[in-house]
Amino acid sequence: MITSSKKPQFENSLLTPIRFVKGVGPKLATLFGKKGIYTIGDALYFLPRAYEDRRNLETISKLRAGQKETGMGVVLFSGIAFYQNQRKKVFEVTVGDESGSILLKWFHGNERYLRDRFKKGRRIIFSGEVRWFRGRKEIHHPEVEIIDGEIEKDSLNFKRIVPIYSEIEGVYPRTLRRVMKRILEEYAQYLHSPIPIEILERQGLMEFQEAFRRVHFPPNEESLERLNLFQSEGHRRIIFDEFFFLELGLALKKRQVILEKGISFKPDGILLKKGLSQLPFSLTSAQERVLGEILEDLGKPHPMNRLIQGDVGSGKTIVALLASLPVLESGYQVAIMAPTEVLAEQHYSTACRWISPLGIRIALLTSNVKGLEREKIYGEVQRGEIQMIIGTHAIIQEEVEFNRLGLAIIDEQHKFGVVQRGLLRKKGMNPDVLVMTATPIPRTLAMTVYGDLDLSIIDEMPPGRMPIETRVFSEALRGRVYRILREELQKGRQAFIVYPLVEESEKLDLRDATRMAEHLQRDLFPDFKVGLLHGRMKGEEKEAIMKEFKEGKIHLLVATTVIEVGIDIPNASVMVVEHAERFGLSQLHQLRGRIGRGDYPSKCILMAPYRISGEAKIRLQAMENTTDGFKIAEQDLELRGPGEFFGVRQSGLPDFRVGRLLRDASILIEARKEAFRLVEKDPELQNPSHRLLRAVLMERWRGRLDLATIG
Ligand code: ADP
Ligand code: MG
Repeated sequence: MITSSKKPQFENSLLTPIRFVKGVGPKLATLFGKKGIYTIGDALYFLPRAYEDRRNLETISKLRAGQKETGMGVVLFSGIAFYQNQRKKVFEVTVGDESGSILLKWFHGNERYLRDRFKKGRRIIFSGEVRWFRGRKEIHHPEVEIIDGEIEKDSLNFKRIVPIYSEIEGVYPRTLRRVMKRILEEYAQYLHSPIPIEILERQGLMEFQEAFRRVHFPPNEESLERLNLFQSEGHRRIIFDEFFFLELGLALKKRQVILEKGISFKPDGILLKKGLSQLPFSLTSAQERVLGEILEDLGKPHPMNRLIQGDVGSGKTIVALLASLPVLESGYQVAIMAPTEVLAEQHYSTACRWISPLGIRIALLTSNVKGLEREKIYGEVQRGEIQMIIGTHAIIQEEVEFNRLGLAIIDEQHKFGVVQRGLLRKKGMNPDVLVMTATPIPRTLAMTVYGDLDLSIIDEMPPGRMPIETRVFSEALRGRVYRILREELQKGRQAFIVYPLVEESEKLDLRDATRMAEHLQRDLFPDFKVGLLHGRMKGEEKEAIMKEFKEGKIHLLVATTVIEVGIDIPNASVMVVEHAERFGLSQLHQLRGRIGRGDYPSKCILMAPYRISGEAKIRLQAMENTTDGFKIAEQDLELRGPGEFFGVRQSGLPDFRVGRLLRDASILIEARKEAFRLVEKDPELQNPSHRLLRAVLMERWRGRLDLATIG
């Protein structure tokens, strides 16, 4: 613990710990820390979540119903009121001024805390939507601040547009505003965004430090509406800065890949022709187009870096396998990596079916392969006797040495990321890289998040897909769900029941998958075979169960989310998801992709408790309303935000502190355009006028840029 109050010098003033701000002691600093605010920089980026109009406070009688209003008054009464024959308890506060009074209501909350806070005689300022109820004006769950001291002298909290920050426990809003104001006054000067002036002018962007001042403490002429939408000029400047440096890094990465020497595959194409002719179906036109794009890349003398995006079941895997044929024909090796062992195993069996007959030697490398057998595979890969190797991420982390790695295929990008791709490239002589993802996202956003990749989209499903009907069922209708299951099983179909957890947790009253499987077998489906698959099982066990299910020996498979990705069971026509409200939207969509793969119409049944949160409700409704993966992904992105959606941290991209990919898509597109234009003009940022730009870029990416040509 540092007790000295003397402020040490920090190389970058924005990294100064917050306790060195005047008026912030260790106690306050600890409270800030709990909110993730440790440094001056963190504090400056802690932007208000909303703004309140306190420029001209109206008297209470003038507050208009149907509007969001801010008013001020004195607490006249407060306490519990009962409604609906005593069944509903509401905490009420009557606030008045010389013109009249208004009722503030809380339908939930800690009564003691509320009583304490709204003592009679306190002066408060409140804000929220005014409504009429039984001839009176009221506000439900208003934002409230207790006033003390003189309003006339308080220019931070009154007579202005006031910033509303997310609550920091134990810190009064007015204290927070005072600290923020001081930080801005003393430290805003250290904020830098050395974006070239011509870009700023072209984009009509304001000065960076000024942007922070205005966003925290907007001048009175600012539009309240735009502020609250994060669309003020100040917001735009800060968001542009974040996006610009992201895109600048991506532009440099992409350029570097283009400059690097890679392998140009130009075989006769006999193998591909053979491969295509043995398929029992013809490719969809989307598959053909994408395959064409890949083949063109393979022929080029620099490394391919391409993403195939397509909904679950759109036929990405087969395209990727076909794409590997020219590489194999040229005498190079292909590596395929999947996020889970089960999926690696499935890719292996698909490859054995379509690629082995062409005389290619394929090996599967998972944690099940041990000892001598493993050593043998290592040797064969190293000598080039095995031409295609399939496994989990372990392939790149371990001791695997390739003879001539020509193409790496990575399944499920969002669990993988930029950094791992870098690792992989180092394994070979700049092999081509093909990434597959079943998370379809809008093109502009994909360009950004996978900004250094070229993009191919399979936007068409193979013909003859049967429809999937999705419905949400509450617990009360469980009997109906079992009847549906029985009907399908009797028709000879198979079914999945998916659970979010493996074992019963004391805290959550989850139905335990293991016990449920027993119950289903014993009490409900004694005439069918019920199987269980979960994440804690050993690889061999899982494999055996999957095999039995594939062969139709197990009719009803109870599983935890290990089945999330890529398993292909055409005969399965029902999927029941237990506690569907606990799954993310994209995850639910992935799960649903396990059915509807055969010749039968399918049913997806989402079980959820009767009462669920608003957000969960939106998710489940989205599932009922559409099977379009793009629409689902867009909604998911909106609900969860990009950080969680893309697993930004894992993917190695800098996180955004203010910008939101969907909300700010137009800023993003402009930032990308400008960044790429700049890199075109000054490919290595060598121009002396870009020195600062480079320094800031490196700092933002914190070593994740991995560029050979700059730094
Ligand atoms: P994805 O990897 O995109 O989820 P897959 O490649 O696993 O999809 O394909 C799903 C299923 O569709 C597989 O059984 C595959 O054999 C089949 N399939 C792929 N392309 C076609 C096509 N053009 N016509 C008919 N069936 C196809
Ligand atoms: Mg797949």
